[in-house]
Amino acid sequence: MKECVDMIKELKYEYYELVDSTNERIKERARAGEEEGLVISAQYQTAGRGRIGRKWESEKNKCIATSMLLYQNNMPPNIVPSITILCGLAVRRTIEKLYDLSCQIKWPNDIIINGKKLSGILVEYEKPNNGVAFLTLGIGINVDQERFPGELENKATSIRLELDKYEEKYKYVEEYKNEEIIKEIWESFLNYYNEFIKNYNLSFIKAEYEKHLVNKGKTVRVESDKKCYEAVALGISDYGGLIVNVEGVEKEIRNYEVSVRGIYGYV
Ligand code: ATP
Repeated sequence: MKECVDMIKELKYEYYELVDSTNERIKERARAGEEEGLVISAQYQTAGRGRIGRKWESEKNKCIATSMLLYQNNMPPNIVPSITILCGLAVRRTIEKLYDLSCQIKWPNDIIINGKKLSGILVEYEKPNNGVAFLTLGIGINVDQERFPGELENKATSIRLELDKYEEKYKYVEEYKNEEIIKEIWESFLNYYNEFIKNYNLSFIKAEYEKHLVNKGKTVRVESDKKCYEAVALGISDYGGLIVNVEGVEKEIRNYEVSVRGIYGYV
């Protein structure tokens, strides 16, 4: 077993109404020497980002954006894919636990309800000059939106929109404050993380992740700048890559610059 980094036991929460991006706020604090475990959350981001330079849209007072600081310490390099997978599981588990809504995951990081995207995750790595490398774990969740503009109309959903579909679940709409959702997510993440750092391997969550993997066993389109092809999604590797079957040959997609889509639509 590799050397084990310290477990994170305590988180420090800060809440803001408005920020440019919770990931950027975390990075700024990390560069100034902040301790591991800081969580910065906001109800509205003016410059939220997704992967590959994409934009994450938010609507005033209707969303959660929350980011956590983690130092790389003695962790192996290229830990971002695994941490991304653990964040996805924590969000999925939280939404199901608090709202009794069944969620799936689109590899690597999108949380899906009824075929639409509820949450996005962006984990970023930075190594400051002469400083310790750190990770910024960012999560955006649609909470209270009643509609989405433009191309998001057919792609995005919110907790409110999903609860609206079930009369018996509508009571949950007012039940949880954002602070409770945020705490539940990060506590859940810590449970996964503290197990993960025992040997930096995702085998302990593979069955859980694959149970909820929305594309498992289905044909997907793998899209990148360079090429697009069809493959059957089989599951994930111990290090967070997507295992696919391409014309009879198994291969692992490790490149996080890739998007995986259903062949008839988003999933
Ligand atoms: P995708 O397959 O959705 O492009 P991705 O993981 O590559 O997933 P992310 O980085 O998670 O993308 O998120 C950015 C994308 O998510 C944007 O390109 C946009 O299509 C979509 N998006 C932006 N804001 C929201 C939102 N509030 N809710 C749902 N989807 C959003």
